[in-house]
Amino acid sequence: MSSVDISIYKRPEELLQNLIRFDTTNPPGNEAPLMEYIDSLLTAAGFETTFLAKDPARPNLVTHLKGRGEAPPLLLYGHADVVTAANQNWTYPPFEGRIADGYVWGRGALDMKCGLAMMVASLLRAKDENLQPAGDVIFGAMCDEETGGAYGAKFLVREHMDIFKDVKYAISEFGGYTMYIDNKKFYLIQVAEKHHCSAEITFHGPSGHGSVPIKDSAMYKMGKALVELNDKKLPVHISDVTEKMINIIASHISEPESTYFKQLLNPKKTNEMLEIIKDKTGNFFDPLLHNTVNAIMVKGGERINVVPGEVTLYLDGRILPILNDNDLRDELINVIGHDCDIKITNYEQAKADADLSLFDMLSDILKGKEPDCIPIPIIISASTDARLLAKLGIQTYGYLPIDLPDGFSFMSSVHAADERIPVKSLYSGTDAIYEAIKRYRG
Ligand SMILES: [Zn+2]
Repeated sequence: MSSVDISIYKRPEELLQNLIRFDTTNPPGNEAPLMEYIDSLLTAAGFETTFLAKDPARPNLVTHLKGRGEAPPLLLYGHADVVTAANQNWTYPPFEGRIADGYVWGRGALDMKCGLAMMVASLLRAKDENLQPAGDVIFGAMCDEETGGAYGAKFLVREHMDIFKDVKYAISEFGGYTMYIDNKKFYLIQVAEKHHCSAEITFHGPSGHGSVPIKDSAMYKMGKALVELNDKKLPVHISDVTEKMINIIASHISEPESTYFKQLLNPKKTNEMLEIIKDKTGNFFDPLLHNTVNAIMVKGGERINVVPGEVTLYLDGRILPILNDNDLRDELINVIGHDCDIKITNYEQAKADADLSLFDMLSDILKGKEPDCIPIPIIISASTDARLLAKLGIQTYGYLPIDLPDGFSFMSSVHAADERIPVKSLYSGTDAIYEAIKRYRG
């Protein structure tokens, strides 16, 4: 950079625009130029930085804000890569970082260059105001979250775990945004996430010549299984976090919605209530109360005139944090029966219990700014780098406060065309993260 203006922290929307303009579509990621830009800001402000890279084109950047040594370190981390914007219809070019209608538009505006902008702005402000927090703040700008973290969090956790020494709590994505129910404004603070798990189900049956009708072939068995999976839900499970979330929501909304929400917690009524509240909340609550699977790929048959004796169905499974892969296998058998082989692949058990110790502090920060808002803890249905940090015993809070207007769905906007964030929410979000750094006591 020819000139580095660290007062940019006072204009987080400009910081975000600059981040969006680095095309970090992953694959290939190519996060290095963006990392160098963040590095230029941090070093100009007096931070010492370290690059840690498995591949020089894909570095991670780590720095520290020195604390008073009175609390364990707090970790702030975020990923710099984004998913593709190809084949999507955007109003403005996805890597232009345009400001229009009160929003910053662009790929990564929500997921999660906004978070990097908030974190970097908070650090620059802390330096400018000589803030010395109770404990060190460790900041990690990471690459490669969107394809699993092999060059990012996975690499750091495996090869450089010393940088996370003594860290118990972290702030990162994929929560903090608002959702309206019954005209009440809720901030969703992520405290846990579902575990990703793939399953391969192989069906066997008679094979033979395509000219002869063959009943109960592998192909038909798979068809029956797909129909069952489409028609039936896996069983209801109510975790402590979800129970707390639903109770808080129910106590703030009016009737009859309040009763509908309370009855979500009665497993005999859950599915019926989900149907009722669907009009207003979409599918948001369903995956928080069930393990889920989606049929993704099929392999079977090679010749146009040969009935295959074996067909394999590939499922994308998502398991609630309180359960594991064996539970999912049992639930699948209950739906599709035993006449198949179920193989669980790609399952990484993550942390089971959420540690809610920081929830009240993070809620108070939001309520201090907006007394009428209602923070709630949530499990998210997707998975993030938090699952990898959890292996070191680190509890991540998805806490990038984003004040979205009523009707704007965060989950429908990430990874989609016209991803954008209200400019004003970058100011309140940055303030909230700065406040968290200031208040954190371990
Ligand atoms: Zn993300």
